[in-house]
Amino acid sequence: MSNDKVLVVEDETSLVETLEYSLRKQGYEVITATTGPKALEQARLHQPDLIILDIMLPGLDGFEICRILRKEMNAPIIMLTARTEEVDRVVGLEMGADDYLTKPFSMRELLARVKAMLRRVRMDREESTANAALKPDVVAERMVFEDLVIDLSRREVICKGVVHHLKPKEFDLLAFLARNRGIVLSRDLILERVWGWEFDGGSRTVDVHVRWLREKIEENPSDPQRIVTVRGIGYRFEG
Ligand code: CA
Repeated sequence: MSNDKVLVVEDETSLVETLEYSLRKQGYEVITATTGPKALEQARLHQPDLIILDIMLPGLDGFEICRILRKEMNAPIIMLTARTEEVDRVVGLEMGADDYLTKPFSMRELLARVKAMLRRVRMDREESTANAALKPDVVAERMVFEDLVIDLSRREVICKGVVHHLKPKEFDLLAFLARNRGIVLSRDLILERVWGWEFDGGSRTVDVHVRWLREKIEENPSDPQRIVTVRGIGYRFEG
């Protein structure tokens, strides 16, 4: 059982109760806040491992809270939005949120995202510990998705027993997608995390690299099952 601490920020009491109940059942420690100012207070006091943040809140909205907390802590933020405009979603991700869900969402979906996000945090933490220890055998790490193996230490990809040596950015992109398995990643976020801020090649670069990857790891590159296109946003790695 995990003892990860989750902060739930939501002003609809019934939703707070449902979220609290479901998360506790999964073994998470849950802290709640129903207003913007209270959210900041609770986050600073409890230092949660993950934050579920509603956008429309009394006092201070979720965007503002996200912007403030991003500067203070690294805990991943999943935003809940009742608005359907694509713009809002992307804006949410650009301001430092790690993921979002549109209301109404299924509790199963939310729990899956929470789990994926916390797993990613743990992997990042282990990786930095391993790097700090400077032991090559500890740094060795592989991600296995059935017949697809991503060898992070050798920077090799093995698909159906065939070893592929990818271009550096191609490999970085695949590793980033795989680490965020199941999560929708916008092209802008991918560009920022894989290519960095200084890169000015535009988001088509992402599409081109995805196409190259698909040729290597997809059974049928024109009907991708691993790297799925999320129309109008970006991509999601399915494993
Ligand atoms: Ca609300």
